[in-house]
Amino acid sequence: MIIVCPSCQAKNRVPEDKLTESPACGQCHQGLIPLAPIELNEQNFSQFVTGSDLPILIDLWADWCGPCKMMAPHFATVAQQYPNVVFAKIDTEANPRLSAAFNVRSIPTLVLMNKTDEIARISGALRAPQLQQWLDQHLNAKS
Ligand SMILES: [Zn+2]
Repeated sequence: MIIVCPSCQAKNRVPEDKLTESPACGQCHQGLIPLAPIELNEQNFSQFVTGSDLPILIDLWADWCGPCKMMAPHFATVAQQYPNVVFAKIDTEANPRLSAAFNVRSIPTLVLMNKTDEIARISGALRAPQLQQWLDQHLNAKS
């Protein structure tokens, strides 16, 4: 499958059974699947979403949003447990066009995407167990 490098945006072909072995980028040698959320913005978003074969879970947040800050460590914790899902964050204040494209009405909002298809979304802060449960439910529904 194709994975877009979060550091240099190069496309890498990775056999599906190697996903759990922390594959590195052929170009910049950084980890291809960082077990920490990556930052997406209006510059790198479309390349990342259309180029990557992995599902992407996006956290739409803002600096002034208390519940977003409450959820952030939970989001980061769950990210470590899903090497087959890219966890990404979008700062809605810094990226108003993306925020409009997602039609975000309240934050935090989580959107699960497979390429350009939105699979599921949920608004409001979740703790790690709830987030895992929600994610498992929608990942299973997809396959
Ligand atoms: Zn790279």
